[in-house]
Amino acid sequence: MTLIIDCHGHYTTAPPAHDAWRSTQRVAFDAGLPFLPYPAISDDEIRESVEANQLRLLRERGADMTIFSPRASAMAHHIGDEAVSQAWTIACNDLIKRVVDLYPETFIGACMLPQSPGVPIAHSVAELERCVTELGFVGCNLNPDPSGGHFTAPPLTDKSWYPLYEKMVELDVPTMVHVSGSCNPAFHATGAYYIAADTTAFMQFIQGDLFRDFPTLRFIIPHGGGAVPYHWGRYRGLADMLQQPPLGGHVMKNVYFDTCVYHQPGIDLLFEVIDIENILFGSEMVGAVRGIDPMTGHYFDDTKRYVEAADLTPEQRHSVFEGNARRVYPRLDAQLKGRGI
Ligand SMILES: [Zn+2]
Repeated sequence: MTLIIDCHGHYTTAPPAHDAWRSTQRVAFDAGLPFLPYPAISDDEIRESVEANQLRLLRERGADMTIFSPRASAMAHHIGDEAVSQAWTIACNDLIKRVVDLYPETFIGACMLPQSPGVPIAHSVAELERCVTELGFVGCNLNPDPSGGHFTAPPLTDKSWYPLYEKMVELDVPTMVHVSGSCNPAFHATGAYYIAADTTAFMQFIQGDLFRDFPTLRFIIPHGGGAVPYHWGRYRGLADMLQQPPLGGHVMKNVYFDTCVYHQPGIDLLFEVIDIENILFGSEMVGAVRGIDPMTGHYFDDTKRYVEAADLTPEQRHSVFEGNARRVYPRLDAQLKGRGI
């Protein structure tokens, strides 16, 4: 039996009071006033917000569990200052913990980080540690561009990111590379910015030597790895031109792609080009593309259908749905083993 683990789910349907508090936080920051207290949100409000959405879709599609993180587009690390980002991050991660506590068999937490443009990433380490050691989360989302679309941060291979990587290695948690909302009108958030950032992160890993310094560090590049699988020959060729080692040892022992690609030919290409050990099932549900594909009659983001229709052996399909996630997220594996799964 295979457990179907979706490595990429966001709480995009949080109760309105949560987002309303965020709005008041922004107003307070602009006015130089203290933040209002975080509102009381009942368990019933949380149940209502997931049962009609993520839980319903998981059940309809036949998935078992989701690695669940705060809504990515709302992380908005470019808003306010470090104190704003810290308070918002704690509120968002605590809300994820409440969902996990209400549905422990279905949801497992991954945290956002309290990043801000120009603020050292070391200031995010304490929240990662809190979420992993106190809240039981198994991974985190790292924003490579806290500026919200201006790419002012150094590449992910820069030593300024190392304090976070050192803590990730110590805690044995992976991170998903995930930008947030775009405040650059040239970038549509989910259509352009996300995919561009995914592709950019991969190229940074080719140019650098990050995994020589951190041989056990693990990144998930979501949205099927951006444009990377489609342009795999370009990246292999660039690695060669830049006199870097072949990608298999240089990058792909540490980098994984999810299956958030919303059509069958794209998924087929992903499986043809990328080793099966590097692909994790994900749907980013409820997320970027919520409609029904008129060509198939099914939701665009019902990625389980594409994986099931792909030309894979049962062993390969098991790796994508369960095995790879348990390997990349050892704390998830440990929690499942603790439950006898
Ligand atoms: Zn996402």
